[in-house]
Amino acid sequence: MDAREKALERARGDMVLLLEARYRIRDQRILDAMEKIPRHLFIPETFRSFADPYGDHPCPIGYNQTISQPYIVAYMTTTLNPQAGEKVLEIGTGSGYQAAVIAELGVEVYTIEIIPGLAEHAQTVLKEQGYTNVHVRCGDGYKGWPEHAPFDVIIGTCAPDEVPPVLVEQLAEGGRMMLPVGEWSQRLVILRKRGGTVVQEDDLPVRFVPMVRE
Ligand code: SAH
Repeated sequence: MDAREKALERARGDMVLLLEARYRIRDQRILDAMEKIPRHLFIPETFRSFADPYGDHPCPIGYNQTISQPYIVAYMTTTLNPQAGEKVLEIGTGSGYQAAVIAELGVEVYTIEIIPGLAEHAQTVLKEQGYTNVHVRCGDGYKGWPEHAPFDVIIGTCAPDEVPPVLVEQLAEGGRMMLPVGEWSQRLVILRKRGGTVVQEDDLPVRFVPMVRE
């Protein structure tokens, strides 16, 4: 391992320590995944020097989009708690990093990205990293992915004004969904489907890019 790779590995270790110590992330599966995944490779090369890929903040990935802050990735994944064998839908593939973290949990991930250049980039990196259980599609997340519904977990990483009803329909019984909702003042919202009814709760205030319409 050369010096550069060692430095990246150390930066990844520090990122995980911060997740544990400051942000109280406890799920070892998720900490292990984030310790292992080369987050910097998910940031397109042109943007890699703009911000520390392992820093405690989002980073630009082109097309005015960002890869989420490590804490937000860890927090949403922990809260949704995907279990091996489950089916997960992500709206907003972006860099593909969040999809990779979830894919490490032994699930099948279906992820939709509206910007063709980002969908292609994510697909390439995910393939290079060996994730055969992530399926990337370029399209409009408001429609979900009916061919593979229902999903045990739905995660949104871009913010609609309201929870899209189509996505609630595509949530399986026992399913969990988390996404940012709102225009200026956004909140993470978590929905749980039990016995055919949906219970919705507000969670953390956040700042995500909008979920745009086709
Ligand atoms: N999860 C990403 C972060 C994505 S940022 C990661 O790990 O890097 C949010 C992404 O949502 C952007 O790439 C944006 O293009 C995408 N997006 C916005 N509106 C969308 C829509 N209607 N359907 C699918 N993707 C959308």
